[in-house]
Amino acid sequence: MFNKILIANRGEIALRILRACRELGIKTVAVYSTADRDLKHVLLADEAVCIGPPPASKSYLNMAAIISAAEVTQADAIHPGYGFLSENADFAESVEKSGFVFIGPRSETIRLMGGKTSAKAEMIAAGVPCVPGSDGILPDDENACREIARQVGYPVLIKAAAGGGGRGMHVVRGEDELIGKIHLARSEAQAAFRDGSVFLEKYLETPRHIEIQVLSDSHGNAIHLNERDCSMQRRNQKVVEESPAPGITQAQRDEIGKLCTDACKRIGYRGAGTMEFLYEEGRFYFIEMNTRIQVEHPVTEQVTGVDLIREQIRIAAGEPIAIRQDQLQPRGHAIECRINAEDARSFVPSPGEVKKYHVPGGPGVRVDSHVYAGYHVPPHYDSMIGKLIVNGCDRASAIARMRTALSEMIIEGIKTNIPLQRRIMDDEVFCAGQHHIHYLEEMLKKGE
Ligand code: ADP
Repeated sequence: MFNKILIANRGEIALRILRACRELGIKTVAVYSTADRDLKHVLLADEAVCIGPPPASKSYLNMAAIISAAEVTQADAIHPGYGFLSENADFAESVEKSGFVFIGPRSETIRLMGGKTSAKAEMIAAGVPCVPGSDGILPDDENACREIARQVGYPVLIKAAAGGGGRGMHVVRGEDELIGKIHLARSEAQAAFRDGSVFLEKYLETPRHIEIQVLSDSHGNAIHLNERDCSMQRRNQKVVEESPAPGITQAQRDEIGKLCTDACKRIGYRGAGTMEFLYEEGRFYFIEMNTRIQVEHPVTEQVTGVDLIREQIRIAAGEPIAIRQDQLQPRGHAIECRINAEDARSFVPSPGEVKKYHVPGGPGVRVDSHVYAGYHVPPHYDSMIGKLIVNGCDRASAIARMRTALSEMIIEGIKTNIPLQRRIMDDEVFCAGQHHIHYLEEMLKKGE
């Protein structure tokens, strides 16, 4: 096992990783920007190294500064968390070349699964169902593009091959707008990712977002830890996540889970990962793989009892996964509400000092947050300041527990989205489990 891990992240996930390290008896190194001296995990870590000024490009994305911090402190491994450098294949490669272990998949795997068209081709080869679409990137020939779109059938969605964060994506409802939208998507993709290649797939009108959590080790073992439903989204950002997904049968779960673990074995996947699907009319369609831990991992931990960060660390250290597929005994239902420092109606970020902070408690309540009374939420980073997670024996009791927990949660001094989360927990459509990925935006429009 490792002696010392450098945590290349900030906020709640850095604290979550620090806690897992402590339980495993591993020393920790925190790296932080000058805006983050007072972060909880920086105060708790065995060592802390300042890696630069507030802008992420100069600190949390500064590969050289992070690797030298690992050298100076003689860490064995680097945990990237989520966001920042977690899916950067060049970073994973530099970490390994500098003699440290990257807690995540091999850099080749990150590269393969990071390209949307290469990931899709790999999944098709592994027998995983994908959204019907073009075979790889679209050709330059306009007539050929028209023919592809006709075969797929309108509406279609143009996507950037190197895309992320929903950029370079355009819905096309008819042939008259196809070529114009392809040009638009190409120039956006070129500007955002320095790669103008785009591809096309069938646009699904009201799908749900369902994803499968996997763990795969370097001994040829792979397991899946069931699904999460993350259909409550605003601008492609998840707001509420839960496990299991309402209405998914055990047979569907076993089938899609097996396809995912077979795919992991095929690509020699190492670590924790998530395969994201759109789900419509009883069918799954793969959209992308996240080769890292995700924000919403706690709902899976709460229903399966498996500590995913601990498993990530153990797998990176060369140990086999601690549990076999047939030993997994998921129980009940878990829901996570993301708590953001933002206005609950306008969504304008609300940095500043947290004057009062009281978290809910009781059975089945978990708070993953780095916030404390007196903490200043800096304006430089993502507005998520924590996650409230509850579990209950079934979905209805988990929702009831979340309502109670949200009503007890007090954060003063800054604005938060707690009022929005309370509205969602009272919403009839959400409570009936009948929402899809556009539902939250419809609900927000209704409430205006
Ligand atoms: P990005 O990496 O840019 O976030 P994704 O491929 O993950 O792109 O897609 C982002 C979101 O766009 C998905 O969560 C889903 O809401 C929507 N989306 C993606 N593909 C489709 C599709 N074929 N039909 C309908 N919506 C889609």
